[in-house]
Amino acid sequence: MLERLRAGGVQDPRVLAAMERVPREEFVPSADRAEAYADRALPICSGQTISQPLMVGVIVEALQLREGDLALDVGTGSGYQAAVMAACGAHVVSIERLPELATAAAVTLARLGFDVDVRVGDGSLGSPDRAPFDAIAVGAAAPRLPVELARQLCGSGRLVVPVGGGPEGEELIRLKLRGGRWLTENLGPCRFVPLIGADAYELES
Ligand code: SAH
Repeated sequence: MLERLRAGGVQDPRVLAAMERVPREEFVPSADRAEAYADRALPICSGQTISQPLMVGVIVEALQLREGDLALDVGTGSGYQAAVMAACGAHVVSIERLPELATAAAVTLARLGFDVDVRVGDGSLGSPDRAPFDAIAVGAAAPRLPVELARQLCGSGRLVVPVGGGPEGEELIRLKLRGGRWLTENLGPCRFVPLIGADAYELES
């Protein structure tokens, strides 16, 4: 997996070491354990997916995490990305809208000893009680840049979020605040399940 991550452009030794340390097989359904290190997204429950390892590597590298950073992970899913962020030395708050996924992820993360505070809620609104964050990662596609999340960054903060949707998929965007202005960078195409919430897509009935 590390070779594929390097070939895909992930270079930060801290991220590569973190991904080597986090056992991905613990975060996939037991029937898919043999596939845990294949470079693709895998189904978890409730119609959601654990992101492709390369995408997790790209997102976590883009967060530029430093030891002791406070980081927010929106869309806990299996908890795998939150574990990789914690393994980079961050204190992680992770929000998931589906209680059954949040519960399962919290159990796995605690069993493996990762420093992640898992919460149930609408992550499109962030976590105002824990803000400001040094870094925020969104693991689901937003229809537009989520303003409330941007507001919860500290002065040197980084927000990494897939934005867009439609037939062409999404673009991975990094947003930084520099000298009082928002700086956005396009990190390339990607594909994610939709972010559903107050500052995101509406739930289809
Ligand atoms: N990074 C995760 C995978 C995320 S899949 C992993 O490593 O496993 C995206 C997750 O975002 C899904 O679990 C979905 O339920 C959740 N989600 C969608 N909209 C959300 C919202 N507004 N707040 C919190 N979680 C949300």
